[in-house]
Amino acid sequence: MQNFVETNRQDLEKTETTQRLRNFDEIYQFFTSRQVRKQGERCVQCGDPFCATIGCPLQNHIPQWLEAVADRDLERAFLLSNESSPFPEILGRVCPQSHLCEGACTLDDGYGAITIGAIEASISDLAFAAGLQLPFPGICHSERVAVVGSGPAGISCAHFLLRAGIGVDMYERADRPGGLLTYGIPGFKLDKKIIEHRFKLLKKAGLQLHLQQDIGKDISLSELVEQNDAVFVGIGATMGRGSNLPGTDLSEVVLAMDYLIAKQRQLFGEAADPQFSMQDKRVVVIGGGDTAMDCLRTAIRDGASQVSCLYRRDEANMPGSHKEFHNAVEEGIEFCFNISPREIRREAEGMLCVEVEKTKLGEKAADGRQQIEIIPDTAHCIPAEVVILALGFDVCPLPELKSNDIEIDHSGQIQIDSATGVTSNPKIYSGGDCYRGADLVVTAAADGRKAALAIMQKLLG
Ligand code: SF4
Repeated sequence: MQNFVETNRQDLEKTETTQRLRNFDEIYQFFTSRQVRKQGERCVQCGDPFCATIGCPLQNHIPQWLEAVADRDLERAFLLSNESSPFPEILGRVCPQSHLCEGACTLDDGYGAITIGAIEASISDLAFAAGLQLPFPGICHSERVAVVGSGPAGISCAHFLLRAGIGVDMYERADRPGGLLTYGIPGFKLDKKIIEHRFKLLKKAGLQLHLQQDIGKDISLSELVEQNDAVFVGIGATMGRGSNLPGTDLSEVVLAMDYLIAKQRQLFGEAADPQFSMQDKRVVVIGGGDTAMDCLRTAIRDGASQVSCLYRRDEANMPGSHKEFHNAVEEGIEFCFNISPREIRREAEGMLCVEVEKTKLGEKAADGRQQIEIIPDTAHCIPAEVVILALGFDVCPLPELKSNDIEIDHSGQIQIDSATGVTSNPKIYSGGDCYRGADLVVTAAADGRKAALAIMQKLLG
């Protein structure tokens, strides 16, 4: 251990740019056993590991699994990394580590943080490839829990309940499980086979998965409450936020999640929807978060002739992951910072003008962010054939919340006890984006785990 002077931080190799634009395959090559060991050996084994205690929302046993890989004990590393996390092979891929565990690593100050995310995903990839198994006991209790939604929070809750031997019925309205992981995160960041594999493990552990079950239509929430000992609601926040901008009702203006879902459905073999065709078009994406990056990088793979991102602040203030921003730049995306749209209008058949003004950052507001000021007399037109709005998400309200005594706030977010995840109905728990608003996959996973532990405590004592 502590080989951080002799061994430099090694980031994952990426597929060469022109090659990666030809398909939607993952762009990173994850570590070999030797690389995992070499990178794990760099860990300093801090007495108070901030990577885990401050950086990771799951408080994963990071120094312990780094020590295990350094000791060439893949099985111990695999079991430790799966102990606190419901899907380390996914979180190691999709977490914005520079803001989380790696940003809190002691070595980040000068030597280069440990490549925690890459090692985490590589451990599970290598272990699964070697045929290692996760210890699920099988269903050994009579109590049953219904989980509504098969996204990150739902999977996490189901995982920890199954690991305690509690039976879980999971209800998903789509035709495939995974929610945001399947339909919202493009394959070049997260291969869909990885999600399918995780669900195979959960089904083997006893999960009963019910697809194409829309709560309120195919089965009611009240029935689930009656038939089960507890219910977990993890329906995410999937309703794309529109804008008051004039012109967003034009047919060439689409919402980010609608586009990403349509594209993924096409990649699963469904017929392409012509409304979402980007072939040979000039595409403008409005927004600066990770979903905007996903749309930009999807559109360029989808054959767009030019893809630009309009963002009201500067590069330093982009909310999205820096890693994904750099990947987008490498792939030829044009970024226009300090630009605020004020209208979208059709100039000719199939040609839009996104009228924008230049901005500058002013005084800090109450939330700590600098306010945006419009620079007068700077209006100009950015031509586009498709505009994608990536302006955030709201909760898509589930029917029957009120009739089941579940409190929601003015924006439709479910209110819970933050220590246990229980709602105002003592039999119903919740967490993830439908409680927080759109947030990270890892915070949804942490919420699902917290609710599972509270449910176990209540049902099994
Ligand atoms: Fe880092 Fe995310 Fe893994 Fe936690 S779950 S160790 S934050 S990559």
